[in-house]
Amino acid sequence: MSLECCFCTEPTQDTCTECTVSCCSRHLYKHRLGGFCQPWKISQKPGIGRVLLASRNISAWERVVYDEALVVVPDYIPVCLACLDKVNGDHRCEKCLWPMCGKEECKNHPNHELECKVFSGKNLQPQIEDYSSIHWAYSALAILRVILTSQTSLENKEALEMFMSHVEDWKSDTKVCEGLARVWKFLETTLAQSSINEEWCLFEYELNSHVTWHKHTQSLFLLS
Ligand SMILES: [Zn+2]
Ligand SMILES: [Zn+2]
Ligand SMILES: [Zn+2]
Ligand SMILES: [Zn+2]
Repeated sequence: MSLECCFCTEPTQDTCTECTVSCCSRHLYKHRLGGFCQPWKISQKPGIGRVLLASRNISAWERVVYDEALVVVPDYIPVCLACLDKVNGDHRCEKCLWPMCGKEECKNHPNHELECKVFSGKNLQPQIEDYSSIHWAYSALAILRVILTSQTSLENKEALEMFMSHVEDWKSDTKVCEGLARVWKFLETTLAQSSINEEWCLFEYELNSHVTWHKHTQSLFLLS
């Protein structure tokens, strides 16, 4: 009998020693993320897409899913690129000049490290008139963060590539396409990220993220 990894669905003879579900050695850490055996396997359903199916009986009130965000990014409102609190223009990153909150712990913060290197010395900070209104530069920043995260490790790249494509659903919305085209032009012309598939980044990110309203942030979860 052919057995499939509960996470990547590739054939495997490996199993989890705790619960005996089929799981390749590369994805055992995903199955055990959170310190318990997650009771599901990933599957595809025609007309729906990727779904989670129970891999064993699940008790009432049992924790079913534990996931960690691959990327946390600003929503569309100007925020500190380290802690994602709101900003008012009084403080800026000393290197790239994007607005920051001014807290000491937000200086040289790892959350902002990758994009800061890209922006530094290039005069790419947004021109913001109203700090309480949405600004397209934060959409561009969000997508850039997804791109840069995918480049930090093969694991992240593979995880981001597992997101489902919804490109066709969005292509008919001209407003969305216009806005995203502007963002893409910014990324392409100023950052030379030509190796990335434009549609993949823009559409996957938009449709696979959760908005956490209390802090104007969005998080990309593989299981969402
Ligand atoms: Zn696997
Ligand atoms: Zn297990
Ligand atoms: Zn901050
Ligand atoms: Zn910076």
